[in-house]
Amino acid sequence: AAKAAGKGRYAFYHAHLSDALILRLSKENALRAAIEKDEFVVHFQPRVGVQSGKLTSMEALVRWERPEYGLIYPSEFIDVAEDIGLITQIGELVIEKVCRQIAVWKAKSLPLVPVSVNVSAQQLKAGALSAFIASCMCRYDVEPRLLEAELTESTVIEKSRIVTNELEALRNLGIKLMIDDFGTGYSSMAQLHRLDVDVLKVDRAFTNALLEDSEGELLFKAIMSMATALDMCVVAEGVETREQLRILANLDCDEIQGFIISKAISAEEMSQLMIKRVLLSSGRVHLHASKE
Ligand code: C2E
Ligand code: MG
Ligand code: MG
Ligand code: MG
Repeated sequence: AAKAAGKGRYAFYHAHLSDALILRLSKENALRAAIEKDEFVVHFQPRVGVQSGKLTSMEALVRWERPEYGLIYPSEFIDVAEDIGLITQIGELVIEKVCRQIAVWKAKSLPLVPVSVNVSAQQLKAGALSAFIASCMCRYDVEPRLLEAELTESTVIEKSRIVTNELEALRNLGIKLMIDDFGTGYSSMAQLHRLDVDVLKVDRAFTNALLEDSEGELLFKAIMSMATALDMCVVAEGVETREQLRILANLDCDEIQGFIISKAISAEEMSQLMIKRVLLSSGRVHLHASKE
């Protein structure tokens, strides 16, 4: 009778586990295993000076090379990683890979530019980020000007002692702070000023709006004047068209990042762009070597 009840219970639960939940649980397990199996790779997306047309820096973007599934993008696993408390580990893994890659580029005597890494709120709250970055910088002989931290507005408005201390420690290491997806959160001018933020990465939504109407242009202009007042550099995210680029140049936006220049590419492909250096001249895009 007990056996029958057990069986029944199993059937009961099983029937109520939705496909979505089963998928989710298997993804969680796969994600844990992926760390052990070192299945994460870092790709890099260039940022370019609007006036100079030169490669100024690049963003490190993590991908999961999942056997039998192919390349998995962050939208499919970052949230899960945050939920199950794995984001700090993945974040550290990315920082380590970035530092190791910088050392490789340096050994090849390539002209180095800073690399920004995305930092999630949880990672800052864990309280060990600045120490971890410092140890990687030391181990791979990476100077502070070569690393930048991308934070979201919700992270910087957090007033906990631990987050404030971490941000201060990053600054003390000489690492630039950037606000990612600016305009989607609720940070104030006072907070940005207090934290001494160096760069605003304006969310893609604002870049998209540039084409639709002049209201989009006005919004961007307002962000530009705030940034100028606070002595921050402005990067437009998600630039895809020449028209957007033309408007951004008129608005005196400092840098652009987006598919118009290149999507995120492998470290090897990035070497080509580092050699090439000038990726844009008089509004014309020089596609990267592998696509020419
Ligand atoms: P993000 O930091 O805002 O990164 C920019 C995202 O926009 C990237 O997506 C990039 O591929 C995409 N993008 C760039 N240019 C264009 C464009 O012209 N058009 C369009 N439609 N998209 C463009 P990706 O790589 O899928 O990353 C998504 C998000 O995942 C990132 O947004 C970031 O929040 C997060 N992420 C990526 N890597 C890491 C990481 O190492 N740690 C953490 N904590 N988060 C990460
Ligand atoms: Mg980012
Ligand atoms: Mg962003
Ligand atoms: Mg974004």
